[in-house]
Amino acid sequence: MPLSDAEVERYARQLLLPGWGKVPQDFVRVSRVQVVGGGPVAGPALAYLAAAGVGTILVDDAADAAAEDAAGWLWPPDRVGQPRSSVALESLRGANRFAKVRLHATGADPTAALVCASGATAREAAERARTAGIPHVVAEGDGDGGSVVVVPPGAPCFACAFRVGTGIPPPPATAAALGALAAAELLMILSGASLPMEGRRIELVRGHPQSRPTTRQPGCACGAPRVV
Ligand SMILES: [Zn+2]
Repeated sequence: MPLSDAEVERYARQLLLPGWGKVPQDFVRVSRVQVVGGGPVAGPALAYLAAAGVGTILVDDAADAAAEDAAGWLWPPDRVGQPRSSVALESLRGANRFAKVRLHATGADPTAALVCASGATAREAAERARTAGIPHVVAEGDGDGGSVVVVPPGAPCFACAFRVGTGIPPPPATAAALGALAAAELLMILSGASLPMEGRRIELVRGHPQSRPTTRQPGCACGAPRVV
């Protein structure tokens, strides 16, 4: 179904971007993105995905809003202590009337995943996305920076690109930059606007992104033929 006049009007500015247009916008519209995690990295990522026109956003986060989340765009200070996912739903539903925002549930069948978490949560979510055969991006804050690992179809997996971090959460502005960067990377995959995309790891160091292609580790399961 082509974009409606109202959708063309809603996305008028981004439709003019070089390499973008109605076909990439439609690819974004029909996508279902599972967003794993909440907090200062996920807040901007969720907001950008909704504003850009992702058709269905599946919020997957079990934590309650904490004081540090209140700096993260979607969780006002008066909602601290309430479930982050339900507060995020309320905030996002006003962002774009064309975006469906739901809680993630078993059987939701996402077409892509954006992981805004760290440690075991990030590794497990990325591995679920890999075994499901869907493209995914992992944003992980660390110290005064962090990383965004981009895994388009067939690319080396998150485990191949993994590096041990400090475990220290970044300041809010850095977390927001990581979330925005991760959302932009996933949108480029969903839209097909820059295919073929290679897997890469982008390190955010003192505000400056440094990108390197990821390489498959010998013997990693991501190099085996996929069993459907
Ligand atoms: Zn791998």
